[in-house]
Amino acid sequence: MNAKLVIANWKMHGTHATNARLIDALLPSLQGIDGVQVAICPPMPYLAQLSDLLEHTSVAVGAQNISERAQGAFTGEVSGQMLADLGCAYALVGHSERRSLYGETDAQVAMKFEAALNAGLTPVLCLGETIHQRKAGNTNAVIGSQLKAVLDQVGIAKLAKGVIAYEPVWAIGTGETATPEQAQQVHRHIRQVLAARDPALAAGITLLYGGSVKDDNAAQLFAQHDIDGGLIGGASLDATSFVAICQAACA
Ligand code: PEP
Repeated sequence: MNAKLVIANWKMHGTHATNARLIDALLPSLQGIDGVQVAICPPMPYLAQLSDLLEHTSVAVGAQNISERAQGAFTGEVSGQMLADLGCAYALVGHSERRSLYGETDAQVAMKFEAALNAGLTPVLCLGETIHQRKAGNTNAVIGSQLKAVLDQVGIAKLAKGVIAYEPVWAIGTGETATPEQAQQVHRHIRQVLAARDPALAAGITLLYGGSVKDDNAAQLFAQHDIDGGLIGGASLDATSFVAICQAACA
């Protein structure tokens, strides 16, 4: 079993004041949890604030997005180098909200993955199927092709330096969670696809589950053989819930 990782995705929520209060409420409990790496991805404007608040703690900072470009005339974009400069250790790439609302393609996501690695960040590659794709029996095919785009771009050795988050689109922010069995099936499939390229690297890669993880379902999800932690949206904005989820990861 791999070391556990729990990442908070605050999405577009927060202010300087509410962020400080949430970190104040989280830190005493998070600091006491052994054996789980915790990271928080605030909105971009608050990365510097979070880096300051979390300096000298065990909690890492991550970005919710990253430009696929290194630098240049790309108005509004934020490069990997800038994120590293702001103290980020992680960058989410290909979150389903970016794919569906902002038209990010598999090819672009693959470039973002590589850009994060080039900047010394750990990319967190988000993969997931829609409810229509699941009902049509295409879950594995969809996940396989999202994964292949990144494998084709960077190869298995570089892909294994990142983290993969399986996030069924139908479970994100809906309150509907994949059952532990459904999640485990897809996680096993992801590991098998990777194992076909390199079994040892596949075994060691961190696979997170995301999609309405709450304090009352986290333990069962994290107990699955191929689930190494979670990517947590809504529940990460509530200190009590997020601490309970992190505690469930070390159980
Ligand atoms: C997410 O945004 O990555 C996510 C998993 O959200 P939620 O936990 O709210 O479903």
